[in-house]
Amino acid sequence: MSAQDEQTPDLDYDALARKYEEERAKRLKAEGLGQFREMTGALASFARDPFADPQFTRDPINREADVLIVGGGFGGLLAGAHLREQGVKEIVVVDRAADFGGTWYWNRYPGVRCDVDALVYMPLLEETGYIPSDKYAEGAEIYELCRRIGEQFDLYRDAMFQTGVESMAWSPERERWIVTTDRGDSIAARFIVSATGHYSKPKLPGIPGIESFEGACFHTSRWDYAFTGGNADGDLTGLTGKKVGVIGTGSTGIQCVPPLAEWAEQLYVFQRTPCSVDVRGNRPTDVDWIKAQPPGWWQKRVENFTNWTSGIQDGEDMVSDSWTNLLGEPTAVAGGVVGEVDPQEMLRAELRKMESVRQRIASLVEDEKTAEALKPWYHYFCKRPGFSDDYLQTFNRPNVTLVDTEGQGVQRITPTGVVANGKEYALDCLVFATGFDFMTSYTREAGFSITGRDGLSLDSHWSRGARTLWGMQTRGFPNFFLMSLLQSGVSINYMHIADAQTRYIATVIAHCLKNGVATVEPSAEAENTWVERCVELSSARKAFLEACTPGYFNQEGQPRPENELNMPFGGGPHAYLDLVTAAREGGFAENLEFGQVTPTGEP
Ligand code: NDP
Repeated sequence: MSAQDEQTPDLDYDALARKYEEERAKRLKAEGLGQFREMTGALASFARDPFADPQFTRDPINREADVLIVGGGFGGLLAGAHLREQGVKEIVVVDRAADFGGTWYWNRYPGVRCDVDALVYMPLLEETGYIPSDKYAEGAEIYELCRRIGEQFDLYRDAMFQTGVESMAWSPERERWIVTTDRGDSIAARFIVSATGHYSKPKLPGIPGIESFEGACFHTSRWDYAFTGGNADGDLTGLTGKKVGVIGTGSTGIQCVPPLAEWAEQLYVFQRTPCSVDVRGNRPTDVDWIKAQPPGWWQKRVENFTNWTSGIQDGEDMVSDSWTNLLGEPTAVAGGVVGEVDPQEMLRAELRKMESVRQRIASLVEDEKTAEALKPWYHYFCKRPGFSDDYLQTFNRPNVTLVDTEGQGVQRITPTGVVANGKEYALDCLVFATGFDFMTSYTREAGFSITGRDGLSLDSHWSRGARTLWGMQTRGFPNFFLMSLLQSGVSINYMHIADAQTRYIATVIAHCLKNGVATVEPSAEAENTWVERCVELSSARKAFLEACTPGYFNQEGQPRPENELNMPFGGGPHAYLDLVTAAREGGFAENLEFGQVTPTGEP
């Protein structure tokens, strides 16, 4: 790539590369992922569910089930809905939360919205008849859709809420998974769908003194409305006259800062790395458009969005937003995930995009020093891009202070406040918008042990990296299906992948139940072929992440050697979706091994 670009002659790419490297070096920490703490021990109270009845008790349950689904978020709900469509009867969903919703159960912080067009993100809209009110739906509305799916597909009947799975082990004698929980339950299930989510385990920074703070203190996914008052729409009357601090300026931080600023007497935003914040452009849903659509419109729009966000300009851009216009011209899900666009062309487009993000900051933030500190200096896809039409303007308010730590983070927490850049900021309330465990270890995030055939634990089976067929099944673990990012397809719109995966899973399970097939698992050959393909396609993303500023995508700047196995499939969403769809439509048998058959008739 030449140092200068024809389209933007003012951009000096070599100078930018030097600046990016300088900023990255400031942020690299020897502790890597070790800088974070789990919500256990002295920090266990952070994990408490503020939305559930703490007095809830019930007797232990012993039962059989056709399918046990772990996780009542969209992954589990889609699996449940598609299994029901296939006629499966005994479906038990287990979740730690007190209701369906997953991410949208837990994340109720003020300002919470989905960053992806509601008409492609929200699934089963045609089946439920639900019409979202806005282009970017509020969290509460998405949560309501989850509950509606639960009702409509009769998933509440056997759901077990406020219940954490502790272990699951394959019993070869019974040809069942024996699942135990923290409420003393024991469920013998023929099939498991583990849909534990990608952002289900919140994490806290290991800042010295974190246990000592005496004011109100919580993670964004456990919002304490008893203290702040109000709800996700605002009205945070409890913050009147209060000094509030927020640590973390990722996609969550940029959503909760504006409402906090509106209600707190003084808001301090402690920033380690600025988020890239692009135009949001929310507006009411065009209901007439939906009503005029023929059946099948959801799938068509979803495919159109995935095309436009992965380098294929497929006719009309139906969603037309900052994702589909991501890089201006050749759009692409970058960061090496999608190999459909020339990498050099993509890099130049991405550098131009980041420059426009910085220019937008300069035009919206009045104080020059603050504007300068809010500018992100890293490759656009090193972190999840953010979108907001009010975050940046919030720093023009007299009661809001950006405490930029130049990549160093907060130094200490005291009983009465936070110390950053050598200065103590007195606080009544401290909010951690510090994110979630992400692809650290499958069982660590899921929170339960998984033991397959011959006593083999999933941890030891994957000790040198994941081995799967299409990210959904693993040999040695019969009748076990999982939904994660490991060796799975990825799209900006998770729901496109999740819908295709759960249709596949439901088809295979229903096939087994209908035909009395006792077990199913990937053949060694199919699994090996998929693993090799994933490894082959991992190099672009691996190289990209190694050069990135630290963050959860690259294990805080210390990518692991086994990453070539533990990454999403690098061949793009189309290749992945084509494979999974073809398998569902009839080709699955050639990649799977089936156990003994005892005809049973009904599923
Ligand atoms: P992130 O992991 O993206 O952000 C965590 C933030 O905490 C970063 O700004 C990080 O800084 C900061 N931080 C961590 N430790 C410290 C410290 N010691 N001192 C100061 N700051 C610190 O978490 P989010 O919850 O924001 O987002 C997680 C994911 O959830 C998103 O990437 C997105 O995929 C999803 N999400 C989706 C939304 C949607 O609309 N669909 C909305 C919100 C979230 P640094 O960058 O320096 O590490």
